This record gives sequence, structure tokens and C-alpha cells, in this order.
Amino acid sequence: MDVAEIPGVPEWLPSTLEDEGIESLYPPQAEAVERGVTEGENLVAAIPTASGKTLVATLAMLSSVAGPDRSGKALYIVPLRALASEKHEEFAQFETNGLSVGVSTGNYESDGGWLAGKDIIVATSEKVDSLVRNDAPWLEDLSCVVADEVHLVDDGNRGPTLEVTLAKLRSLNPALQTVALSATIGNAAELAEWLDAQLVDSSWRPIDLKKGVHFGDALHLEDGSQSRVPVQTGEDQPAAIVRETLDEGGSTLVFVNSRRNAESAARRLTTTTERFLSVDEQSDLAEIAVEIRDVSDTDTSDDLAAAVERGAAFHHAGLSREHRKLVEDAFRDRLVKVVCATPTLAAGVNTPSRRVVVRDWRRYDGSAGGMMPLSVLEVHQMMGRAGRPGRDPYGEAALVAKSHDELDELFERYVWGEPEPVRSKLAAEPALRTHILATVASRFANSRSGLLEFLESTLYAQQTTERGRLETVVDDVIEYLAVNGFLEGDGTDLTATGLGHTVSRLYLDPMSAAEILHGLEDTTGVSGEQAQPTALGLYHLVSRTPDMYELYLRSGEDEEYTMLAYERESEFLGTPPSEFEEERFEDWLSALKTARLLEDWASELDENEITERYGVGPGDIRGKVDTAQWLLGAAESLAVERGLGVGSAIREARIRVEHGVQPELIDLAGVRGVGRKRARRLFEAGIESRAALREADKSVVLAALRGRRKTAENILENAGHRDPSMANVDPDSEVSLSDGDVTVSDGAGDSDDNQANLGDF
Ligand code: ADP
Repeated sequence: MDVAEIPGVPEWLPSTLEDEGIESLYPPQAEAVERGVTEGENLVAAIPTASGKTLVATLAMLSSVAGPDRSGKALYIVPLRALASEKHEEFAQFETNGLSVGVSTGNYESDGGWLAGKDIIVATSEKVDSLVRNDAPWLEDLSCVVADEVHLVDDGNRGPTLEVTLAKLRSLNPALQTVALSATIGNAAELAEWLDAQLVDSSWRPIDLKKGVHFGDALHLEDGSQSRVPVQTGEDQPAAIVRETLDEGGSTLVFVNSRRNAESAARRLTTTTERFLSVDEQSDLAEIAVEIRDVSDTDTSDDLAAAVERGAAFHHAGLSREHRKLVEDAFRDRLVKVVCATPTLAAGVNTPSRRVVVRDWRRYDGSAGGMMPLSVLEVHQMMGRAGRPGRDPYGEAALVAKSHDELDELFERYVWGEPEPVRSKLAAEPALRTHILATVASRFANSRSGLLEFLESTLYAQQTTERGRLETVVDDVIEYLAVNGFLEGDGTDLTATGLGHTVSRLYLDPMSAAEILHGLEDTTGVSGEQAQPTALGLYHLVSRTPDMYELYLRSGEDEEYTMLAYERESEFLGTPPSEFEEERFEDWLSALKTARLLEDWASELDENEITERYGVGPGDIRGKVDTAQWLLGAAESLAVERGLGVGSAIREARIRVEHGVQPELIDLAGVRGVGRKRARRLFEAGIESRAALREADKSVVLAALRGRRKTAENILENAGHRDPSMANVDPDSEVSLSDGDVTVSDGAGDSDDNQANLGDF
């Protein structure tokens, strides 16, 4: 189908697409159009990776918001924050056609009023869920919703939110067009039935993909062919494949099962890639390495730069967004020859390469307590990244086998195996706890039967064969919520209490709220007098809620944290479990590890020392800090709601963790562009507050900021200085400077949502 023949789209669209080199639709896209996706029909599109799903969504959204005689509003739901900005950039091109495009991540409490004026909105499912809870009025104006990666309803952590959110949006607005994009899955028809949608279920790809397994000296492909890829001395199998591919002028993506493995694999592969670099490439890569080091002064940053200089890179969620983007661009420009990535980012890396190697097919799974095989769906998604349309004759994707038996097993399981069906995970208690409270609080349902009726519209209800199970779990959850004071009334008339509303609005798991409240109430002693909690006590309190992702204890750390638990016993809020309740005690210690990380950060410990001490990446620190900030904000609201006089202690702990500073720097660090390190230097130079900065001697400021004029001007302007200009100002030579150089990642100038957060693993 020619792009000029698509019905229902804005008249400017065909030429815009042609300008991008898209002249005719790929077959699955044409099928979607034939099934009415540009004329308001619901659609489930289950199509392989890189086969043009985004254009299907774009056609639906544009026809809905700007098609002939239509002027609706579209919402594009993404699973990860990192993808939100990527999609936003992609759709922002339509602003030249008079459409406005907005992206909403972050802050879960607002109703995003400013979004009311946008034609296309990109948001994570958590954000959309919270907008529904906050009664964002413009949700009723939506005419089209797209759910990207809808197969993730199968994900135990985030799937239920996507599922419930879709069900709510559809019930708020029965005329809403729903478009769900999915990887190839075993039960696409079932999803289509759930969403009353037409189905495009296709295995078509713009470029052929040959799957296979490398074993011994050969790559065995699914069509029965073999090509010789011998492993040379000093090489492992992935290195041999990377070298062979480079011999043919191609690049390789290598998927491994952990961040650490991604880093070490990249380091090892540099010995292969560096032999293929031209002089020009070496100097381009050296420049990119400088940009990488400029992003932050951590070991991760250094390691990445060192690998990139030699033509290899790693890519995982422990990297900051700037790092990831530099790597992706350099790979796309064919400067970086190999990228070693974790599977969780397979969806994000839109970087086709000649070959894909899936090195690890098992991954550590905390809930199973051991290594578990990846799903066929995940492995196929990674493999689908192989082959660059228009450049390669076909793509090749290989797993790696160490033995004959493994070769057979991998062929059975992944090369010939079909992707699994997706199953709803809504019946899990934490999910139902959160969503039932929200459903009652936002008056979607006000009785037990109303709740059950709403839940009937979910995928879970469609899939379950145990009729009674949903009712049993719902009853348990209602009881839990009532006992903890979040819901009241009997089964025929359920309402959320004031506290219940607050918890739902704050987007907390009710169990987190209960834990926080018990802990805070514990500060009121027998005498009725309120003891002020310490920062560590508060960090520990929020770290042990189910809303904080845990840091696991490494071997030997049990002892270290048990000691610390005794030393700081008086600071904990709530009753510690006894050492004999092993599992609970272990959790308590893990939370203590997270709490101490936060305390170290808020005590101005160097970012690099923190990453080393806790074995985490800089993106992880950011993630914990963001989550802690949100939970402490929520704790503050709960304290106010309950009339507990600990609000100011919580506030101080929150701001300290937000900026990573000691109490005396809170004021200064709040000035935009200052950040923790610069705040400390200004403070040491005698400028101790925002007010002092406003009136400060410019030569002192310039000296404290190490002679960086542009930075100094910015900061003075943000502080409200009358005359921020640094023209003709010289740094004051009396000011002595103690610590290392400023980096961008110390919080200075960082926007809120440029790093991993809330499960952006
Ligand atoms: P998916 O979302 O399915 O992984 P994308 O939507 O990112 O895949 O598409 C992959 C690439 O194919 C993009 O670079 C896109 O511009 C290109 N593409 C999509 N549809 C067409 C088409 N009909 N003709 C040519 N290129 C296309």
C-alpha cells in the first residue's frame, strides 16, 4: 500500500513520510490500515521487533488527532521512562505540522493540567495510572490510546498497572480507540479479544533473520546451514563471532545477563575491536570518550570511556541517559563496533546490527533463588535486533553453546521454540492491594460487587479458570485495607477514608503507607512526647517498604550490617525483627544497606566511593535517591494527615537526599545549577546561603567555582544577583580549594528525569 492511499490520515502525512524515505507500507502496517486502524478501530498488532510497529501507532494517533474532520487527543503509553523521552523526540517532529506533543514522567501527584493543551502525550503506565487517580479531567477527551510493549502485562512488577490502567481508560471513555503493540507472542488473539480489537498477528520482517547457535568452530543456522566461525587462541566464542563480523565490515550486539557481565564482556572484546579501527575512527572515538568522561566522574564512566576508545561499549540501566545516548549514537555511526547489553534494555536499543549474540540464556532470579532461563519471547526480541534493512542481505542471531547437549537444547528451546503466551499477573496481592484502593478512592467502584464487575473487564478475568480465586483475593485485600484504616464501610457501600485517599493520591503501595505510619507513630513515646527521627532512621523506614527496590546483601555483609544494626539501634523507627526470624531480619539488613547508601549520599560522600562501597552504578544511586525523595515526600504528607509533629525532620531528610548534602548546605544547594560539590565550595569560601550568594563578592564566587565564568554567571542569575556578569572579574586568590573538579552529574543542572528511576532497571 502506497502511503498516499492510506485513508483517514491528515493530508500532509504522505509527503512527510516520503521525506523520511517511507513510500509504501510494510505488509503488517498495510494490514493494520485495512483493519481500520486509521478509522478508529481498536487493534492489537503483534509484530516482530523492528518491523515498523511505531508507524502503526503513529498512523492511528495522527488520524485520531488530525485526520479529516477529527480533532481528538492521543496518549502513547511506554513501559520505561527512558523510552518516554525517545518516543517524545520521535513524535515532536509533527510539531511542524501544528500538533503539540508533551511528555509526562516524574511527579506522581499532579493531574498534569498542562497536558490538557497537548494533542499527543507520551507517558509511562505508572504516570497514566496516577493521572487517573488524580482525576485528570482531560483524560475524558482522549480519543486514542496506544499501549507499547503490551506483552509486558505479563511482568509481575509492572504488568498489573498497565492492565488496570487500560481497563480504566476504556471504561472512562467507551469510545476510546485502543491500539496495543506487542512483540510476537503465543496468544495475541486472546489480547485482541480482551481489548475488543482487530488483530494483526504477523511474523513478517523487513529483513530476513536467521537464528542459530554457535558451537565449536561453527555457527549452526536454523535452515540447516553451517558457517565456519573458528575460535582462535585467546578468544572466547563471542569474540570469534565479533571478529568474523568485523572482517565482513559489520557490527555486533552481545546480550549478557547482568550489568557487571556487560562491562567485563565489553572490556574483553576491546582486544578484538581495536585491531579493526582506522586512524580516523580512533580519533573520533577518543573525542566521544572525552564526552563520556564529562558526564560523570565515576569508575563506570571511566570504564565506559576506556572501552569506547578501543571500539567497544556496554549499555545497561546503571548508566545515565547521556551515557546511553552517546553509546547508541556511536554504534549507529558505526564507530563503536560492539555493544554488550543487558536484556532489559533490548527494547530500548534501537540499533540494528549485522549480528546479534545472545551469550547468556539464564539469568539470576531472586524470587526463584537461582538462575532461570530467559523466556523465548525475550530471546526472540534480542535476536530481532539483527539485520540492518537496506544494508545487510540478512541478519544473523546466535546463542552460544558449550556442549553438544546444550546445542540441542538451545535449538529446541529458542531457535525452534514458539514465544510463550502472556498471562495476567493481576491476582498477585501487592498489585490488587494498590489497585483496589485506587479503584475505590477514585470512585470507579463503591462496593464489593462493583469492584468485581470492574475487575471483570481485565485480562485477568478473561484468562482465569478458577472462578472463585478473584473473589477470595479481593475479599482478603478489602479486609487488609479496612484493618489498616484505608477503606471503610461494608461490602455494599465501600469508601476510601481520608487516609486512603491520601495513600492513593501519593501513589503508594498501601503496605508501604502502613509501614511508614507505624514507624512514624513509634516516635511518640510513652510520655506522649515526640522524639525527632534521625535521617538514617527515616531512610531505613522508607527503604523497607515494598516501594523501594532492595539492594541485596553480598556474602559477608550480613555480619557488617548486623553490627551496624546494633550500633544504630536507637535510631530505627518501629520494632526490629529478632535475629531468629531469619528472613525478616535479612530484609531489615538489606534495607539498612540502602539506608546507609542514602545517608552516605546525604553526607556528601563522593559518588565514586558510593558506587564502590555498594557495588552499584551511578544510575542506581540516582534511582534510589529519586525513590527515597518520593517516599519521604509521601511520609511527610502522611505525618501531616495524622497530626504527627515530625514533618520538619522528614523534610530535612528529604531535601538532604535530594541534593546529596549535609544540613548546612540545604539552602545553597537549592539554587539551580549549584549542586552538592559547588555548594560545599561556596560554603567553604564563606558564602553560606542563597541570600549571601545574591549579595556575594563576584571574585570570591568565581574563585570558588574554579574560574568557570559561564557557570558562575548562571548560578548568580539563578540566585537573583543584581548583576551576574563576570566580565572583568578575576578569581579571588585568597580562596583556597580543597576537593576534586566539578562534574555534571553532581546534580548541578541535571533535570529531574534524566536517570533511571522507579524500576527502570
Ligand atoms: P518496532 O517498533 O517494530 O521495533 P520501528 O517502528 O522502530 O520498529 O521501525 C524500525 C525502523 O523501520 C524504523 O527506522 C522505521 O523508520 C523504519 N520503517 C518503519 N516502517 C517503514 C516503512 N513502511 N518503510 C520503510 N521503513 C520503515
